[in-house]
Amino acid sequence: MSAASPRPAAFPLAPNATIGILGGGQLGRMSALAAAELGYRCHIYAPQDNEPGMLVSAARTIADYEDAAALAAFAAAVDVVTFEFENVPVRTLEILAPLVPCRPGPKALAVCQDRLQEKAFFGSAGVPVAPWAAVTTEAELRDAIARIGLPAVLKTTRLGYDGRGQAVLREPGDAAAAWARLSPRPLILEAFVPFTQELSAIAARGADGATAVYDAVENRHRHHILDLSFAPARVAPAVADAARAHAARVAAALELVGVLAVEFFLLPDGTLLGNEIAPRPHNSGHWTQDACQSSQFHQHIRAVAGLPLGGAARHSDAVMRNLVGPEGMARLPALAADTGVSLHLYGKASAREGRKMGHANRLFRLESLAFTAEAELLSEL
Ligand code: AMP
Repeated sequence: MSAASPRPAAFPLAPNATIGILGGGQLGRMSALAAAELGYRCHIYAPQDNEPGMLVSAARTIADYEDAAALAAFAAAVDVVTFEFENVPVRTLEILAPLVPCRPGPKALAVCQDRLQEKAFFGSAGVPVAPWAAVTTEAELRDAIARIGLPAVLKTTRLGYDGRGQAVLREPGDAAAAWARLSPRPLILEAFVPFTQELSAIAARGADGATAVYDAVENRHRHHILDLSFAPARVAPAVADAARAHAARVAAALELVGVLAVEFFLLPDGTLLGNEIAPRPHNSGHWTQDACQSSQFHQHIRAVAGLPLGGAARHSDAVMRNLVGPEGMARLPALAADTGVSLHLYGKASAREGRKMGHANRLFRLESLAFTAEAELLSEL
C-alpha cells in the first residue's frame, strides 16, 4: 500500500463490506440503519461512547478526531469512510485520505465548515448570497457595517450551528457587545435578509457524477432549531426548480460523492439566496424516509458505496416535525398512538432542553399539501 494513494476499494462495495462513519449522532445512526438495509456494516468513530450511531452499528472506535494511531486502525478496519457532521476536523480526513477512500473528501468538508469559504464558493457556483464581509478587527466591523448597512447578522465562521455563534445587529451601538462575545475570529457580517420563507434542497451525487435531487422543502425554526419541514415547499414551481438546480450545481462544483443540503432564504420577489451548505444528510431531508423510494440516508450510503443512486421522486407529500427536548418528548405518547405518523427516535437517554430526540413524519396524498389548511397539516403532529 503506498502512502499517497488509498487502498483501492472495489466499488460498488460488496454486501457485508464496512462503511466507516466519523461522528456518532442521529445522522450517523440513520445512515447506519440505511446501510444495514443495503447489506453493509458500519463502524462509527467518535470521541464519546454510547452515541446514537454506535447503538445500531457493528463496531465503534472511541478516540479523538486527531488521534493518528486510532485513525490508522480505523482506516484498516473499514472499506470507505464518510462523515455525518461537518465539524469533523479537516485534518482527520487528511490523515485518512491516503489510507482509505473518503467520500465526501476533505475539499467538500473544508468549504462547508468555514462560512467565508462557503460564501465565496456559493458565488463561484453561481448561487446568489446576501452581501457579506469578513471582519478580523473591530475597525473592520465598523467599515463592514457602513458598507452593508443595518440590520445585519454577525456570525462566527466556524462551529456555528442551530443559530449558535451569531448576533443580530440592529443599531451601531450593538456592534461592540457582539464583537466582544463572538469568537473565534475572523467573524462574518451578513446583511439581514428579510426572507418570506426558508427553503432547502437536498442533492445526492455518485462518483460517476450522476445526480438525484429531492423536492425542495419549506423549513420553520423554533428557538433557532428546525421545527417543521413541509414537503414540497409551497412556492412557485420556478422557485422550487431553482432551489433544486442550485443544489445540483453546488454538489457538482464540490465534486461531492454523497448527499448535501443547501439552505436558502426566499425573498419576496422570488429570488433565492444561499445561506448554508451541509455536505451530509440533513434534518430537513428526514421526510424522505417515508415519502420517497430512496431516503436521503439510502442515497448517501449508495453514493458512498458506489451503488447507483435510488429513486428520489416523492410518492407522498409530507410534514416532518422535530421532537426537541422535554417539550418534544411530551408529544411522544400521542404520536406513538397515531397510526398516521411514522416515528424516528434516536435512542438518546436524556431529553435536555434543545436536544434533538427524534422526529415524526406525517404523509399526505401527493400534491395535496399546497391545498390543505396548515392547521390540518399540523393537527396531531
Ligand atoms: P445559520 O446558522 O446561518 O443557518 O442561521 C440560523 C438561522 O438564523 C437561519 O435559519 C435564519 O432563520 C437566521 N439567519 C441567519 N442568517 C440570517 C440573515 N443573514 N438574515 C436573516 N436571518 C438570518
